[in-house]
Amino acid sequence: MAKGTITIDERRCKGCELCTTVCPKNIIHMATTFSARGYRPAILVDPNEQCTGCLLCATICPDVAITVYREIKPKATTPSTTRNT
Ligand code: SF4
Ligand code: SF4
Repeated sequence: MAKGTITIDERRCKGCELCTTVCPKNIIHMATTFSARGYRPAILVDPNEQCTGCLLCATICPDVAITVYREIKPKATTPSTTRNT
């Protein structure tokens, strides 16, 4: 399973809650505090590192407030063949 995480820019977030509806891991919640703009911003609550970096939250966010980071696993190296000539 791919590993990922997100950051949410609370200066952009208007608290529409759309991202909370699409996360398959249900790890985006709404803050109980207010941003400088007067909205309750979305926050990531992921103590068990369940985020897969699937991009659904960032894709649906109308305010481009979410940045997704996804772990890229190094490709398996294929052993090179050595020829004795
Ligand atoms: S990238 Fe996917 S799993 Fe991670 S918080 Fe966003 S919707 Fe959820
Ligand atoms: S979809 Fe975007 S604007 Fe709406 S709550 Fe989530 S981060 Fe905030």
